[in-house]
Amino acid sequence: MPSYAGMPTWYAASANPAPQRPVLQGAHRATVCVIGAGFTGLSVALELAERGIDTIVLESERVGWGASGRNGGQLINGYSRGLDVLEARHGPAVARELGKVALEGAAIIRERVGKYGIACDLVDGGLGVALTAKQMRGLEEEAKVWAAHGHKTIAVLDREGLRAHVQSDRYVGGILDPLRGHFHPLNYLLGEAAAFEALGGRLFEHSQVLRVDEAGPRPRVTTAQGEVVAETLVVCGNAYLGKTMPRLSGQIMPVSSQIVTTEPLGDLAAQLLPSDACVEDANYILDYFRRTADGRLLYGGGIVYGGQDPASVEAKIRPGLVKTFPQLKDVKLDFAWSGTFAMTLSRMPQIGRLSPNVYYSHGDSGHGVTTTQLLGRLLAEAIGGQHARFDVFGNLPHLPFPGGQRLRAPLSTLGSLWYTLRDRLGV
Ligand SMILES: Cc1cc2nc3c(=O)[nH]c(=O)nc-3n(C[C@H](O)[C@H](O)[C@H](O)COP(=O)(O)OP(=O)(O)OC[C@H]3O[C@@H](n4cnc5c(N)ncnc54)[C@H](O)[C@@H]3O)c2cc1C
Repeated sequence: MPSYAGMPTWYAASANPAPQRPVLQGAHRATVCVIGAGFTGLSVALELAERGIDTIVLESERVGWGASGRNGGQLINGYSRGLDVLEARHGPAVARELGKVALEGAAIIRERVGKYGIACDLVDGGLGVALTAKQMRGLEEEAKVWAAHGHKTIAVLDREGLRAHVQSDRYVGGILDPLRGHFHPLNYLLGEAAAFEALGGRLFEHSQVLRVDEAGPRPRVTTAQGEVVAETLVVCGNAYLGKTMPRLSGQIMPVSSQIVTTEPLGDLAAQLLPSDACVEDANYILDYFRRTADGRLLYGGGIVYGGQDPASVEAKIRPGLVKTFPQLKDVKLDFAWSGTFAMTLSRMPQIGRLSPNVYYSHGDSGHGVTTTQLLGRLLAEAIGGQHARFDVFGNLPHLPFPGGQRLRAPLSTLGSLWYTLRDRLGV
């Protein structure tokens, strides 16, 4: 099976046909230039193109090369921290504003899939599941907090109720959110890219931005063979930006997560996950899984602070998969891969400006499928002069990691060992 961009993922092997975009050559001008063709970059680019704003997107590799084309594909509403935690941190007024937009990212995905006819296997419904009584109390509380912010359709399920959705003995219960869901993230991105181009947007692949010149009234970005001068620049390289813009890399920590996909399971796939809802457990380092459209189990978990790939993805993920579904003890794994997202100290995404006409967005901290869509829209609003919703996020404090770039990974590993131990003991 040919693989999109040579990526080792099930997504690449099942990607919709997509054209190879040109490499940037020579000098170009645009109203807005976006760095990165992941969820954030394409979300802002499509919003801008819909508003008739002349936009160029530059991508180092291919559309979806980063976290966006290789993730669990789960639409999870809200942020990596609950609205109650955010209220305790920032006060009720900020929590209310964050709550108002917490469902908008998933709504944008559903809207674009319909509007542009994107074939990406979108399925409604997702579960949060508890391994301990303490985690179950946490999920019940989460449902109450959501209800207080207007999302009242989350159902609390006991052990028996959950079995209608997940045939595993591991869980004591869970919550079912009909506004969660799952999809084929790479095919969604390819659909967005096509929609952007149909609206006149220009997209260049294999065009890594090597230098950003912010001096002067118009930012200039330089690639190996070309340059773009724009009125506004939006940096959406996230964890894959590396050291291109050191002012940004210091604010985030790259973290990798790993995924495997089984061979097609036939009828067994629907027996394991009868309602086809996606699942995320409540551990600090969590497992997440779902069915694919061709009847496989896609199972992810694991974390490497610093963003390196583990020696063996299968060795890291198979034990959790088999613990959840002992029926799959001898199952063959057809695909195994790793991807890297950007984590912030607060676990909240960071958007802001480096200078009056250079914007950035990064750090969705492992829950970026829906927030990146939202932040793309807020960036487009801000570029168009409407700052109110952008500022709700832009005004959140951006804290550096303790220990700086050298010690942030070992310190985070230590912290996560503590929380993992608490998960194991159920305290
Ligand atoms: C394994 C894994 C599983 C995950 N599962 C889920 C999930 O199920 N649900 C969920 O909500 N979130 C999940 N996430 C998180 C989610 O995928 C990310 O938060 C989100 O995709 C980030 O999108 P992005 O556009 O900001 O970054 P990316 O998708 O990483 O995109 C950045 C792009 O910028 C390009 N780029 C970087 N530097 C340059 C440069 N100098 N010049 C040009 N281009 C450049 C990169 O090549 C890349 O394509 C997961 C992440 C991983 C890694």
